[in-house]
Amino acid sequence: MNYLTKEYQNYDARLGWILTYNCNLNCSYCIQAILRNKDIISGKISKIDISTLQKTLSDTNKIFKIDFSGGEPFLVPNIIEACIELTKNHFVSIWTNLTSERVKEFIEKINPERVPLINASLHIKELEKHNLVDKFISNFHLFKKNGFNIRALEVAHPHLINEVKKYKKYFKKQGISLEFMPYIGGYNGKVYPASYTKKELKEFGIKKKRIAVHFPKGNLCNAGYNTVGVDPEGNLISCPFMEKNLGNVYEKIRFNDKMIRCPFEICGCGLYKDNYIYKKAIRETKTTNSSNLILLIKYKLNIYLERIGNKMFQFFNRKKILHFYRKHRPFIYYAFPILKSLHKYRELTKKSRRDPRLKWKGNTYRKSIIEFNMIDSI
Ligand code: SF4
Ligand code: SF4
Repeated sequence: MNYLTKEYQNYDARLGWILTYNCNLNCSYCIQAILRNKDIISGKISKIDISTLQKTLSDTNKIFKIDFSGGEPFLVPNIIEACIELTKNHFVSIWTNLTSERVKEFIEKINPERVPLINASLHIKELEKHNLVDKFISNFHLFKKNGFNIRALEVAHPHLINEVKKYKKYFKKQGISLEFMPYIGGYNGKVYPASYTKKELKEFGIKKKRIAVHFPKGNLCNAGYNTVGVDPEGNLISCPFMEKNLGNVYEKIRFNDKMIRCPFEICGCGLYKDNYIYKKAIRETKTTNSSNLILLIKYKLNIYLERIGNKMFQFFNRKKILHFYRKHRPFIYYAFPILKSLHKYRELTKKSRRDPRLKWKGNTYRKSIIEFNMIDSI
Protein backbone atom coordinates (compact mmCIF):
# COMPACT_ATOMS: atom_id res chain seq x y z
CA MET A 1 0.00 0.00 0.00
CA ASN A 2 1.17 3.48 -0.78
CA TYR A 3 1.25 5.65 2.37
CA LEU A 4 2.67 8.66 0.64
CA THR A 5 0.24 11.32 -0.27
CA LYS A 6 -0.95 11.61 -3.83
CA GLU A 7 0.19 14.47 -5.99
CA TYR A 8 -2.85 16.61 -5.34
CA GLN A 9 -2.52 16.12 -1.60
CA ASN A 10 -0.06 18.90 -0.90
CA TYR A 11 0.06 20.46 2.50
CA ASP A 12 2.41 22.90 4.21
CA ALA A 13 2.11 21.81 7.81
CA ARG A 14 0.80 19.05 10.02
CA LEU A 15 -1.07 19.05 13.32
CA GLY A 16 -1.03 15.83 15.37
CA TRP A 17 -4.09 16.44 17.53
CA ILE A 18 -5.05 14.28 20.51
CA LEU A 19 -8.72 15.27 20.61
CA THR A 20 -9.55 13.45 23.82
CA TYR A 21 -7.91 10.97 26.18
CA ASN A 22 -11.22 9.14 26.39
CA CYS A 23 -11.83 5.87 24.57
CA ASN A 24 -14.51 3.20 24.38
CA LEU A 25 -11.78 0.54 24.74
CA ASN A 26 -9.33 -0.10 27.55
CA CYS A 27 -6.21 -1.72 26.07
CA SER A 28 -3.81 -3.09 28.68
CA TYR A 29 -0.74 -1.39 27.14
CA CYS A 30 -2.40 1.97 26.46
CA ILE A 31 -0.73 4.86 28.28
CA GLN A 32 -3.93 6.86 28.18
CA ALA A 33 -6.09 4.03 29.48
CA ILE A 34 -3.63 3.47 32.35
CA LEU A 35 -3.46 7.16 33.26
CA ARG A 36 -7.21 7.57 32.86
CA ASN A 37 -7.86 4.65 35.19
CA LYS A 38 -5.55 6.24 37.75
CA ASP A 39 -7.32 9.62 37.38
CA ILE A 40 -4.05 11.23 36.28
CA ILE A 41 -5.61 12.53 33.08
CA SER A 42 -9.16 13.49 32.42
CA GLY A 43 -11.49 11.63 30.09
CA LYS A 44 -13.17 14.91 29.21
CA ILE A 45 -14.59 15.14 25.70
CA SER A 46 -14.90 18.66 24.31
CA LYS A 47 -16.46 19.85 21.09
CA ILE A 48 -14.17 21.35 18.48
CA ASP A 49 -14.68 25.08 18.10
CA ILE A 50 -14.81 24.85 14.32
CA SER A 51 -15.08 28.52 13.36
CA THR A 52 -12.28 29.68 15.69
CA LEU A 53 -10.09 26.82 14.50
CA GLN A 54 -10.71 27.72 10.87
CA LYS A 55 -9.74 31.30 11.57
CA THR A 56 -6.46 30.31 13.29
CA LEU A 57 -5.57 28.04 10.40
CA SER A 58 -6.36 30.57 7.72
CA ASP A 59 -4.30 33.24 9.57
CA THR A 60 -1.20 31.12 8.90
CA ASN A 61 -1.82 31.07 5.11
CA LYS A 62 -0.92 27.40 5.14
CA ILE A 63 -2.66 24.23 4.06
CA PHE A 64 -2.71 21.72 6.90
CA LYS A 65 -2.97 18.01 7.29
CA ILE A 66 -4.61 17.37 10.64
CA ASP A 67 -4.04 13.93 12.15
CA PHE A 68 -6.86 13.41 14.62
CA SER A 69 -6.16 10.83 17.30
CA GLY A 70 -7.02 10.15 20.90
CA GLY A 71 -8.25 8.19 22.76
CA GLU A 72 -10.94 7.66 20.21
CA PRO A 73 -11.59 10.76 18.03
CA PHE A 74 -15.05 9.56 16.98
CA LEU A 75 -16.19 10.17 20.59
CA VAL A 76 -15.96 13.92 19.95
CA PRO A 77 -19.56 14.96 19.23
CA ASN A 78 -18.85 17.27 16.28
CA ILE A 79 -15.89 15.44 14.73
CA ILE A 80 -17.75 14.86 11.47
CA GLU A 81 -18.95 18.47 11.19
CA ALA A 82 -15.36 19.59 11.88
CA CYS A 83 -14.02 17.26 9.17
CA ILE A 84 -16.61 18.51 6.67
CA GLU A 85 -15.49 22.11 7.23
CA LEU A 86 -11.78 21.40 7.46
CA THR A 87 -11.62 19.28 4.32
CA LYS A 88 -12.88 22.23 2.27
CA ASN A 89 -9.35 23.71 2.48
CA HIS A 90 -7.23 21.22 4.38
CA PHE A 91 -6.67 17.49 4.77
CA VAL A 92 -7.58 15.24 7.69
CA SER A 93 -6.36 11.83 8.75
CA ILE A 94 -7.79 9.77 11.58
CA TRP A 95 -6.37 7.25 14.04
CA THR A 96 -9.39 5.23 15.12
CA ASN A 97 -10.14 1.84 16.62
CA LEU A 98 -12.86 1.59 13.95
CA THR A 99 -15.62 0.51 16.30
CA SER A 100 -17.71 3.69 16.27
CA GLU A 101 -21.25 3.76 14.91
CA ARG A 102 -20.35 7.10 13.32
CA VAL A 103 -17.93 5.61 10.82
CA LYS A 104 -20.71 5.26 8.21
CA GLU A 105 -21.67 8.92 8.54
CA PHE A 106 -18.03 9.94 8.12
CA ILE A 107 -17.75 7.85 4.96
CA GLU A 108 -20.95 9.32 3.51
CA LYS A 109 -20.04 12.94 4.21
CA ILE A 110 -16.29 13.23 3.73
CA ASN A 111 -14.46 13.33 0.42
CA PRO A 112 -11.82 10.54 0.44
CA GLU A 113 -9.52 12.69 -1.68
CA ARG A 114 -9.10 15.03 1.30
CA VAL A 115 -8.18 12.14 3.61
CA PRO A 116 -4.63 10.90 2.92
CA LEU A 117 -4.87 7.98 5.33
CA ILE A 118 -7.17 6.26 7.83
CA ASN A 119 -5.08 4.51 10.47
CA ALA A 120 -7.25 1.69 11.76
CA SER A 121 -5.76 0.69 15.13
CA LEU A 122 -6.50 -2.96 15.60
CA HIS A 123 -6.30 -3.88 19.26
CA ILE A 124 -7.12 -7.51 18.83
CA LYS A 125 -7.35 -8.69 22.45
CA GLU A 126 -9.60 -5.81 23.37
CA LEU A 127 -11.77 -6.29 20.29
CA GLU A 128 -12.13 -9.99 21.08
CA LYS A 129 -13.04 -9.16 24.68
CA HIS A 130 -15.85 -6.87 23.55
CA ASN A 131 -16.92 -8.93 20.58
CA LEU A 132 -16.01 -6.16 18.15
CA VAL A 133 -13.79 -7.97 15.66
CA ASP A 134 -16.56 -8.28 13.06
CA LYS A 135 -17.43 -4.62 13.40
CA PHE A 136 -13.78 -3.66 12.82
CA ILE A 137 -13.65 -5.83 9.71
CA SER A 138 -16.89 -4.53 8.21
CA ASN A 139 -15.95 -0.88 8.88
CA PHE A 140 -12.54 -1.47 7.36
CA HIS A 141 -14.09 -2.75 4.15
CA LEU A 142 -16.61 0.05 4.12
CA PHE A 143 -13.80 2.60 4.09
CA LYS A 144 -11.96 0.69 1.40
CA LYS A 145 -15.02 0.25 -0.78
CA ASN A 146 -15.64 3.98 -0.68
CA GLY A 147 -12.17 4.91 -1.90
CA PHE A 148 -10.40 5.70 1.36
CA ASN A 149 -6.74 4.85 1.84
CA ILE A 150 -6.77 2.68 4.97
CA ARG A 151 -4.35 0.43 6.82
CA ALA A 152 -4.76 -1.87 9.82
CA LEU A 153 -2.11 -1.48 12.50
CA GLU A 154 -1.59 -3.51 15.65
CA VAL A 155 0.97 -2.73 18.38
CA ALA A 156 3.72 -5.35 18.33
CA HIS A 157 3.45 -5.96 22.04
CA PRO A 158 5.75 -8.83 23.05
CA HIS A 159 2.86 -10.70 24.74
CA LEU A 160 1.37 -11.28 21.27
CA ILE A 161 4.44 -12.97 19.83
CA ASN A 162 3.05 -16.51 19.86
CA GLU A 163 -0.14 -15.51 18.09
CA VAL A 164 1.19 -13.28 15.34
CA LYS A 165 0.97 -15.93 12.62
CA LYS A 166 -2.56 -16.87 13.65
CA TYR A 167 -3.81 -13.29 13.53
CA LYS A 168 -2.04 -12.42 10.29
CA LYS A 169 -3.59 -15.46 8.67
CA TYR A 170 -7.04 -14.72 10.04
CA PHE A 171 -7.09 -11.12 8.85
CA LYS A 172 -5.61 -12.04 5.50
CA LYS A 173 -8.56 -14.36 5.02
CA GLN A 174 -10.79 -11.36 5.77
CA GLY A 175 -9.02 -9.32 3.08
CA ILE A 176 -7.02 -7.22 5.56
CA SER A 177 -3.25 -7.04 5.54
CA LEU A 178 -2.32 -6.70 9.20
CA GLU A 179 0.76 -4.63 10.04
CA PHE A 180 2.55 -4.32 13.34
CA MET A 181 4.14 -1.17 14.70
CA PRO A 182 6.88 -1.16 17.36
CA TYR A 183 5.89 -1.15 21.00
CA ILE A 184 7.59 1.61 23.01
CA GLY A 185 7.76 0.73 26.68
CA GLY A 186 8.72 -1.92 29.19
CA TYR A 187 7.74 -5.56 29.44
CA ASN A 188 9.19 -8.30 31.66
CA GLY A 189 12.11 -6.09 32.71
CA LYS A 190 13.06 -5.33 29.12
CA VAL A 191 12.85 -2.03 27.32
CA TYR A 192 11.27 -1.99 23.88
CA PRO A 193 11.76 -1.52 20.97
CA ALA A 194 15.47 -2.11 21.64
CA SER A 195 14.83 -5.53 23.15
CA TYR A 196 13.10 -7.15 20.16
CA THR A 197 15.04 -10.18 19.03
CA LYS A 198 15.71 -10.79 15.33
CA LYS A 199 13.19 -13.61 15.41
CA GLU A 200 10.51 -11.40 16.96
CA LEU A 201 11.07 -8.65 14.43
CA LYS A 202 10.77 -11.17 11.62
CA GLU A 203 7.63 -12.63 13.12
CA PHE A 204 5.99 -9.21 13.51
CA GLY A 205 7.24 -8.16 10.08
CA ILE A 206 8.96 -5.04 11.40
CA LYS A 207 12.00 -3.77 9.52
CA LYS A 208 15.02 -2.55 11.47
CA LYS A 209 14.92 0.86 9.88
CA ARG A 210 11.36 1.20 11.20
CA ILE A 211 12.76 0.79 14.71
CA ALA A 212 15.72 3.04 14.03
CA VAL A 213 13.49 6.12 13.90
CA HIS A 214 12.79 5.66 17.59
CA PHE A 215 16.46 6.34 18.39
CA PRO A 216 16.69 9.84 16.93
CA LYS A 217 19.35 11.51 19.06
CA GLY A 218 21.39 13.88 16.89
CA ASN A 219 19.09 13.64 13.89
CA LEU A 220 17.22 16.49 12.37
CA CYS A 221 13.61 16.75 13.44
CA ASN A 222 10.88 18.95 12.01
CA ALA A 223 8.89 19.03 15.26
CA GLY A 224 7.84 22.64 15.75
CA TYR A 225 8.98 23.67 12.28
CA ASN A 226 6.10 22.33 10.20
CA THR A 227 4.61 19.66 12.44
CA VAL A 228 3.18 20.26 15.89
CA GLY A 229 1.35 18.28 18.55
CA VAL A 230 -1.96 19.50 19.94
CA ASP A 231 -3.49 18.46 23.27
CA PRO A 232 -7.26 18.20 23.96
CA GLU A 233 -7.34 21.84 25.12
CA GLY A 234 -5.81 22.97 21.83
CA ASN A 235 -2.35 23.78 23.24
CA LEU A 236 0.47 23.38 20.75
CA ILE A 237 3.80 21.73 21.49
CA SER A 238 6.67 20.93 19.18
CA CYS A 239 7.47 17.60 20.82
CA PRO A 240 6.09 15.88 23.96
CA PHE A 241 9.54 16.13 25.56
CA MET A 242 9.95 19.82 24.98
CA GLU A 243 8.69 22.62 27.09
CA LYS A 244 8.23 25.21 24.41
CA ASN A 245 4.64 26.25 23.84
CA LEU A 246 3.79 27.15 20.27
CA GLY A 247 0.38 28.68 20.92
CA ASN A 248 -3.10 27.29 20.77
CA VAL A 249 -5.26 26.17 17.85
CA TYR A 250 -7.95 28.59 19.01
CA GLU A 251 -5.61 31.57 19.18
CA LYS A 252 -2.39 31.53 17.20
CA ILE A 253 0.10 29.01 15.84
CA ARG A 254 3.76 30.01 16.19
CA PHE A 255 5.99 27.77 14.10
CA ASN A 256 9.76 27.63 14.70
CA ASP A 257 11.83 28.99 11.85
CA LYS A 258 14.27 26.07 11.73
CA MET A 259 14.52 22.34 12.30
CA ILE A 260 16.15 21.00 15.45
CA ARG A 261 18.63 18.26 16.25
CA CYS A 262 16.87 15.80 18.52
CA PRO A 263 18.52 15.79 21.98
CA PHE A 264 16.72 12.65 23.18
CA GLU A 265 17.68 8.98 23.13
CA ILE A 266 14.21 7.63 22.47
CA CYS A 267 11.30 9.10 20.56
CA GLY A 268 8.02 7.37 21.11
CA CYS A 269 5.90 9.75 19.13
CA GLY A 270 7.99 9.94 15.97
CA LEU A 271 6.45 13.26 15.01
CA TYR A 272 8.85 13.53 12.14
CA LYS A 273 7.70 10.27 10.58
CA ASP A 274 5.30 11.90 8.14
CA ASN A 275 7.75 11.55 5.29
CA TYR A 276 6.10 14.09 3.04
CA ILE A 277 6.25 16.91 5.55
CA TYR A 278 9.66 15.85 6.84
CA LYS A 279 11.24 15.95 3.40
CA LYS A 280 9.54 19.27 2.76
CA ALA A 281 11.17 20.68 5.90
CA ILE A 282 14.58 19.39 4.80
CA ARG A 283 14.14 21.00 1.36
CA GLU A 284 12.95 24.31 2.76
CA THR A 285 15.68 24.61 5.37
CA LYS A 286 18.30 23.16 2.99
CA THR A 287 19.74 20.95 5.72
CA THR A 288 21.12 17.46 5.42
CA ASN A 289 20.35 14.61 7.73
CA SER A 290 22.55 11.77 8.88
CA SER A 291 22.34 8.91 6.44
CA ASN A 292 20.13 5.89 6.94
CA LEU A 293 23.27 3.87 7.43
CA ILE A 294 24.21 5.89 10.49
CA LEU A 295 20.68 5.43 11.83
CA LEU A 296 20.97 1.70 11.30
CA ILE A 297 24.37 1.48 12.97
CA LYS A 298 23.07 3.47 15.93
CA TYR A 299 20.07 1.20 16.16
CA LYS A 300 22.20 -1.96 16.06
CA LEU A 301 24.51 -0.58 18.73
CA ASN A 302 21.53 0.25 20.92
CA ILE A 303 20.14 -3.25 20.54
CA TYR A 304 23.48 -4.79 21.34
CA LEU A 305 24.03 -2.70 24.45
CA GLU A 306 20.45 -3.09 25.61
CA ARG A 307 20.64 -6.87 25.39
CA ILE A 308 23.88 -7.05 27.33
CA GLY A 309 22.36 -4.73 29.92
CA ASN A 310 19.27 -6.92 30.20
CA LYS A 311 21.34 -10.08 30.59
CA MET A 312 23.53 -8.51 33.25
CA PHE A 313 20.51 -7.41 35.22
CA GLN A 314 19.12 -10.90 35.14
CA PHE A 315 22.45 -12.37 36.19
CA PHE A 316 23.61 -10.09 38.98
CA ASN A 317 21.97 -8.85 42.10
CA ARG A 318 20.48 -5.60 40.91
CA LYS A 319 21.04 -3.63 44.13
CA LYS A 320 24.66 -4.60 44.51
CA ILE A 321 25.56 -3.82 40.96
CA LEU A 322 23.78 -0.49 41.02
CA HIS A 323 25.57 0.46 44.23
CA PHE A 324 28.90 -0.47 42.70
CA TYR A 325 28.03 1.26 39.48
CA ARG A 326 26.98 4.49 41.20
CA LYS A 327 30.18 4.56 43.26
CA HIS A 328 32.47 4.01 40.29
CA ARG A 329 30.38 5.50 37.54
CA PRO A 330 32.89 7.98 36.04
CA PHE A 331 35.60 5.33 35.69
CA ILE A 332 33.27 2.56 34.55
CA TYR A 333 31.39 4.75 32.15
CA TYR A 334 34.46 5.56 30.17
CA ALA A 335 36.51 2.42 30.76
CA PHE A 336 33.92 -0.19 29.91
CA PRO A 337 31.58 0.86 27.13
CA ILE A 338 29.59 -2.26 27.81
CA LEU A 339 28.35 -0.74 31.02
CA LYS A 340 27.01 2.18 29.08
CA SER A 341 23.98 0.03 28.45
CA LEU A 342 23.58 -0.40 32.17
CA HIS A 343 23.76 3.32 32.59
CA LYS A 344 21.17 3.76 29.87
CA TYR A 345 18.92 1.15 31.42
CA ARG A 346 19.21 2.88 34.76
CA GLU A 347 18.25 6.15 33.12
CA LEU A 348 15.24 4.49 31.64
CA THR A 349 14.09 2.84 34.82
CA LYS A 350 15.00 5.41 37.45
CA LYS A 351 14.59 9.15 37.37
CA SER A 352 17.94 10.50 36.22
CA ARG A 353 19.24 13.89 37.10
CA ARG A 354 21.06 13.97 33.78
CA ASP A 355 18.12 13.42 31.47
CA PRO A 356 16.73 16.79 30.35
CA ARG A 357 13.31 15.24 29.75
CA LEU A 358 12.95 14.48 33.43
CA LYS A 359 14.09 17.88 34.57
CA TRP A 360 11.20 19.38 32.80
CA LYS A 361 8.15 20.17 34.91
CA GLY A 362 5.51 20.09 32.23
CA ASN A 363 1.96 18.91 32.65
CA THR A 364 1.36 15.59 34.35
CA TYR A 365 0.25 13.81 31.23
CA ARG A 366 3.31 14.55 29.16
CA LYS A 367 5.58 13.79 32.11
CA SER A 368 3.76 10.52 32.59
CA ILE A 369 4.33 9.54 28.97
CA ILE A 370 8.03 9.79 29.61
CA GLU A 371 7.77 7.74 32.77
CA PHE A 372 5.50 5.24 31.08
CA ASN A 373 8.20 4.49 28.54
CA MET A 374 10.25 3.26 31.43
CA ILE A 375 7.88 0.91 33.22
CA ASP A 376 6.32 -2.43 32.52
CA SER A 377 2.90 -1.94 31.01
CA ILE A 378 1.43 -5.34 31.85
S1 SF4 B 1 -8.07 1.83 21.30
FE1 SF4 B 1 -6.21 3.09 21.33
S2 SF4 B 1 -6.73 4.85 22.63
FE2 SF4 B 1 -8.29 3.26 22.98
S3 SF4 B 1 -7.57 2.15 24.80
FE3 SF4 B 1 -6.81 1.07 22.97
S4 SF4 B 1 -4.76 1.92 22.57
FE4 SF4 B 1 -5.82 3.30 23.96
S1 SF4 C 1 11.84 13.21 20.67
FE1 SF4 C 1 10.99 15.15 19.90
S2 SF4 C 1 12.74 16.21 18.99
FE2 SF4 C 1 13.29 14.03 19.15
S3 SF4 C 1 12.71 13.10 17.21
FE3 SF4 C 1 11.00 12.85 18.62
S4 SF4 C 1 9.67 14.59 18.18
FE4 SF4 C 1 11.69 15.09 17.35
